[in-house]
Amino acid sequence: MKKLVTVLCQLLVGGTFLLSGLVKAIDPVGTALKLTEYVQHFGLGFLAELSTALAWGLALFEFALGLFIFFGQHRRLFLTLGLLLMLVFTPLTLYLALYNPVDDCGCFGDAIVLTNWQTFWKNIVLLIAIVWLIFDRKNVAGWLAKDWYAFYFYAAMFVVAALCFVGSQHLPFIDFRPYRPGVSLRQLALGEPAQGEQSAQYFVIYEKDGIRQEFLLDSIPDEDSGWEFVDTRIVEAPGNRSSDGKTHSLVLFDAADQNVTTEVLSDTGYVFLLLSPDLRTADEHDMDCIDNLYEYAMQEGHAFYCVTLNDPQAVSRWSYRTGAEYRFLYADQQEIETMIRSNPGFMLLHDGVILWKSNLSGIDVPALTSAKLSEQSYGQIRPINRKKRVFWIFAWLISPLFLYLPLQFIYKLIKNKNKKMRKKIVAGNWKMNTTLQEGVALAEGLKAALAGKKVNCDVVVCTPFISVASVVKAVEGSVIGVGAEDCSEHDKGAYTGEVAANMVASTGAKYVILGHSERRQYHGENNAILVNKLNQALANGLTPIFCVGEVKEERENGTFKQVIEGQMEALYTLSAEDFAKVIVAYEPVWAIGTGLTATSDQAQEVHAFIRASIAKKYNAEIADNTSILYGGSCKGSNAPELFAQPDIDGGLIGGAALKVDTFMPIIEAWK
Ligand code: PEP
Repeated sequence: MKKLVTVLCQLLVGGTFLLSGLVKAIDPVGTALKLTEYVQHFGLGFLAELSTALAWGLALFEFALGLFIFFGQHRRLFLTLGLLLMLVFTPLTLYLALYNPVDDCGCFGDAIVLTNWQTFWKNIVLLIAIVWLIFDRKNVAGWLAKDWYAFYFYAAMFVVAALCFVGSQHLPFIDFRPYRPGVSLRQLALGEPAQGEQSAQYFVIYEKDGIRQEFLLDSIPDEDSGWEFVDTRIVEAPGNRSSDGKTHSLVLFDAADQNVTTEVLSDTGYVFLLLSPDLRTADEHDMDCIDNLYEYAMQEGHAFYCVTLNDPQAVSRWSYRTGAEYRFLYADQQEIETMIRSNPGFMLLHDGVILWKSNLSGIDVPALTSAKLSEQSYGQIRPINRKKRVFWIFAWLISPLFLYLPLQFIYKLIKNKNKKMRKKIVAGNWKMNTTLQEGVALAEGLKAALAGKKVNCDVVVCTPFISVASVVKAVEGSVIGVGAEDCSEHDKGAYTGEVAANMVASTGAKYVILGHSERRQYHGENNAILVNKLNQALANGLTPIFCVGEVKEERENGTFKQVIEGQMEALYTLSAEDFAKVIVAYEPVWAIGTGLTATSDQAQEVHAFIRASIAKKYNAEIADNTSILYGGSCKGSNAPELFAQPDIDGGLIGGAALKVDTFMPIIEAWK
């Protein structure tokens, strides 16, 4: 039951963030306008300049947060971020609910309009759900494997960023607002024409010496009177409730402050509306488009108006700069922004019905002006199938989930093809753990376990010196190769207790481990000694399994790559031809015999680093052909994930190599 509640909370919180991020991304201009309202209300007007960047940022952030929570990835981090977000937004929405500075919070853009109180309660529910999730984090479901999720995350974020781009450069991919093709603007705006005309009042707000005053259109102060334009205010006509649940009151005034809404919208012919919420900030790049459409409209006898905010200075500046001859009508800025998200943009009406709307670059002017409107598609309603667009967005968002597996399959095919050149190896390092008899018994047991099996990698056992010869004999006729755990740096002579490489080779052994961390630690082996040992081994036809790896402190202080590079220097004294005979083993010392394993990502990172370093020192071909094994608490349980990494070519196994039962699953990890 507890688990079910947790999963439901996860879906609720993740899903809510996904939805709110998505709708903001679909209409980034609308989101930016809402943010501008907020920052202005809270006296942070300077941020209004950044509102578009903030809108993108907020949309992408909310969507990403939703993805992480929904799919149960990086739970601690993203649940904490979600909590912080809710701790900021819940009091803010309480303030909005109490004082109503903006009429809707814009959480879900114009797609789902909530009252400020509804928003507040929604946030309370989300806050409780997030707190629950934080307390029961362990039950938060992780639906996808890490790599799968990573692939999906980037793909989904790409889709959302693309929506932001389309919405910023053109018009929103889905228009959630009521002014859509096919809708009667006449009906929407006039509703009850008589009432609308009587009650709508349009005021222009000016400021002088810190004093703000509202003026009716016919009493606007002169430009040189010192009054500065601030804003406009409309006392709404009753208007119509529309699909977004709001009352829309498009009221159009002319320069003489006459309400001309009925006159304009009663036109039964074609009416071009050039819409600009603010001419001061309108894009002036495509003036030819406006001029050509205006000329065409005049030629064909169609009405053409520019509907904008009543800012006489801006209008006269615009007229002067563009030579505009068309008639200007004035409307509430917010209403114009609701009608079109671009500045400027066009809307074409016929008999009061919206046929289409577009930003300037979206209109094919030569095509439109080449024929009469009634004879071409620009003269018809250009409907936008919103259901289809919703479907496409979901298809784009969901399809990467299913693309991952086939792509991964192809990637693996390519990867394995690349890997083919280098050997896959599982090598055991028995260390000082087996007597002669135990060693022989272990070797025989392994031989028996492998007999008749399809083995997909080279199998090696490196044994104490005393058993090498016997183990070589014991495994005769099997796939098992044998090696020693060390050899002397000298070729022969008075080195009591030492075993030379040629002695190892004389047993029939083919491998020798060199530079194991325990030899470096307890026997002071350094690069100078190891260079000699490498040369001895190679001169006697042995394949060195050369170990490198950092201690815990070096991992923690971030110097591990330098340390490994330093250890690799011993190998880099070899000619390319000799180097090609070496097997490298990355063994993080903190993971050897401790039960701690480097994660597959950590191991892969170092293996890739080693391979890149070899490529730099020799060439890419040698690097590609070098087998790099991982060692450090490798077991049957973690071997498959480790070996699945593109640069891990097998393992050097300590503890788990001492029993057939624990060694075999590691060999079998190579499917
Ligand atoms: C080793 O000593 O080479 C080793 C990898 O040991 P273990 O597998 O026991 O960590």
